Amino acid sequence: MKIHLKHYLVGLCAVALPAMAQTLLPQPQQVEWKKGNFNWQKPYRLECRQTVAETSAPVQQWLPAKAVTAETKRVVILEKGNPAWNDEAYQLYVSADTVKVCAKNEAGFIAARATLAQLTADGQQTRAVMISDSPAYRYRGAMLDVSRHFYPIEFVKKQVDLLARYKFNRLHLHLTDAAGWRMEIKRYPRLTELAAWRTDSLWKTWWDGERKYVEEGTPGAYGGYYTQRELRDLVDYALERGITIIPEIEMPAHSEEVLTAYPCLSCTHEPYKQADFCPGSISTYDFLENVLKEVMDVFPSAYIHVGGDEAAKASWPTCPRCQAKMKELGTTDVNDLQTHLIAHMGRFLKSHGRTLIGWDEVIDGNLEKGTTVMVWRGLENATRAAAHGYDVILSPGAYCYIDAYQDSPADQPEAMGAYLPLKKVYSFVPGENLSPAHRAHIVGVQANLWTEHVPSAAHAEYMMWPRLLAISEIGWNGTKYKDYDEFHQRAVNETQYLRANGVNAFDLKKEKGDRVQSAIKHKAVGATVIWNKKYHRSYPGNGPTTLTDGKLGGWNYGDKPWLGFLGKDCFDVTIDLGKVQSISEVGADFLQCTGPWIYFPGTFTISASEDGKTYKTLFEKKNPDKNFPYYKTEWWSWKGKAKARYIRLQGDPVVHGGWIFVDEIIVK
Ligand SMILES: [Zn+2]
Repeated sequence: MKIHLKHYLVGLCAVALPAMAQTLLPQPQQVEWKKGNFNWQKPYRLECRQTVAETSAPVQQWLPAKAVTAETKRVVILEKGNPAWNDEAYQLYVSADTVKVCAKNEAGFIAARATLAQLTADGQQTRAVMISDSPAYRYRGAMLDVSRHFYPIEFVKKQVDLLARYKFNRLHLHLTDAAGWRMEIKRYPRLTELAAWRTDSLWKTWWDGERKYVEEGTPGAYGGYYTQRELRDLVDYALERGITIIPEIEMPAHSEEVLTAYPCLSCTHEPYKQADFCPGSISTYDFLENVLKEVMDVFPSAYIHVGGDEAAKASWPTCPRCQAKMKELGTTDVNDLQTHLIAHMGRFLKSHGRTLIGWDEVIDGNLEKGTTVMVWRGLENATRAAAHGYDVILSPGAYCYIDAYQDSPADQPEAMGAYLPLKKVYSFVPGENLSPAHRAHIVGVQANLWTEHVPSAAHAEYMMWPRLLAISEIGWNGTKYKDYDEFHQRAVNETQYLRANGVNAFDLKKEKGDRVQSAIKHKAVGATVIWNKKYHRSYPGNGPTTLTDGKLGGWNYGDKPWLGFLGKDCFDVTIDLGKVQSISEVGADFLQCTGPWIYFPGTFTISASEDGKTYKTLFEKKNPDKNFPYYKTEWWSWKGKAKARYIRLQGDPVVHGGWIFVDEIIVK
C-alpha cells in the first residue's frame, strides 16, 4: 500500500508541476521552461572554464552534492560571462544531464545561486530551464530601523539570508535616533553606556512619557547596541551573500540621545533639551567626523548615510555660535546651516573615497558630485534631486514605507497611519512621472521599516514579508510587465514557503483586503453642500462633491473619497436637499487613525431646518473616549422622523490639533 501511495504522489507532482509552475521571485528577465530535472543524487563532473574558479565560488559552495572525478556525461559547467554584461547578470541552463552557469563576476554567480536555490526547492532536483537574467536597477535595498526597537544581530543575519534569496543587494541600518544609539564607537563610550538605553521597552510608552535614558546595566533598562566586532562579522556575512550593509548616522537632527550623552554638542549644552546638533560649533564637526571614521572603518560600503531629515533647527536662530557661523557664511537663513553641515560631511566622506546618501531634505545645489538622495517624501523631490545631477534612490512613503498596515487595520497590530497592502507596493512604478533625462538618475528602490510600533524581531519580520517581495520584483525585474494576479500567486506560494521555514511572514492567503466600497444610494446624493468651514487643502478628496457622491473611502486616509478637516470646530457643513422633505436618518462616516492624528469628533451635532434660518437639533453626541481605537471607521447617525430642506452637521476634534476625516454624509 505504501509503495502505491508514494507512486501516486510522485505521479501527482509530475502532473501538477506545469500548472502551478516553479515559483521564481523575483521573476528573471527571460525564462524558458524545459522538460525534466537535473538530479543531484546522481554522479556529475564539475568543469570550471576560463578562470572562473574563484568568482564562481558562490555557486560551487551551493552545489547540493559533491562532484565526482570519474567519467560521466553528466556535467556542471561554470563559465565566464560576456565582459559587456551587467555585474549581476547571469545565464543558466539546466537539463537532465547538464547545469551550466555563466556570469561575469562574483555578483552574477551570487544572483545565479539565488535562482538555483529557488529552482531546487526539495534540495535534490533542479528543474530544467533556460534563463537569461540581469537586474532592472543596480540598487535594491531594504532599511531596518534598529533604534526605535533593537533586534539581535542573529535576527539581522536571518534577514540578510532572506534578502539574498530575493536578490536584494543593500541592507540599510538606521543605527541612531532619539530612541537609542546602536553602534559601539570606541572614542565616545557614553553613546553606548547611556544613549543606547532607555526607561521603557515599548517605544510608544517611552515617547509619550518622559523620554529618559538610563545607564547601561540599570535594572529594567531597555536597549542595546552592536559591537564593532559583531558589525564586522555581519558585514562579512552579508557580503558573502551579495549584500552591502549601509550604516546610517543621523545628523543634524534626530539626535536627542547623542545630545544627552554629550550635551556640549548642542546649542544650549543642556541634556534632554535638543534634538539637533549645533552646526555653529567646531566640536560638532569633530565629533561627527570621528564617529564617521570609525563607521567607515567597520563598514566598507561606498555609500554612507547621514540622515539629514526633519531638522527643526529650533535652537539655531538664538545660538551665538550658530549666528556667528551664519555671519561667516554670509547668510541670514538658518537652513543654510544644515546645507553647510551636510556639504561639509559630503566632502569629508568623499576625501575618504565614500559617497554621502541623505534623505531628500539634503537636496541643495552645492553638494559633492555623486551625492545620492533617498527620496521619501513626494516624488517631486526626485525631480529636484535629478535636476541637481544627484543620483536618486526611490523610497516614497506612499509605496515603500512598510511600517503601514498591510491588511484591514482592525485585525492587525498597531502600525503607522496608512494602509499599504502588497498590491499597493507592487503598483509602484519608479520614475513614472520623470523625464527620461531625470529618470536616468534613478539608481534603485528601497523599502523602509521604521519600528516605532514594532517591538519585537518577530513583528519586524511580519511587517517585512511578504511586502519586500514586491520591492524585490520591482527592483530586479522592473515594471514593464506588471501583472498583479500572476505576481500575487507567486507571492502566496513564496509566503507559504517562508512560513514553513520559520519566517513569521504575514499569511497572504488570509488577506482580507481593502474596506468594501460599494456605492450607497440615499437622498443627499448629488445634493449641494454649503461649506461653513472649508476642508483642508491637503486632503481635498474629490472636491466639493465628495461628501454627497455615494462613495465610501478605503482604509487609506489619503484615498480620494476621504475629506480632511483641521482645527477647532473644523467640521461644519450644511446639506441643501433642494426642497423640504421627510427624513428618517442622517449620518456621517468618520475615520479614526491615531498615527497621523485623525480622530473621531469630541462633539458632534446634527440639526435640521426647513427655511435655512431656524434649526432644530436632531442629534448630539459627546465622545469623551480617550482610549482611542488606533484605526477604525464608524457611522454616527440620527434616526427618527423630521421634515427638512437643510441639514447641518458640526464636529470638533476630540484632540486639540487633531483632524476629522469624513467620506460621506447620508440622508434617508
Ligand atoms: Zn548652535
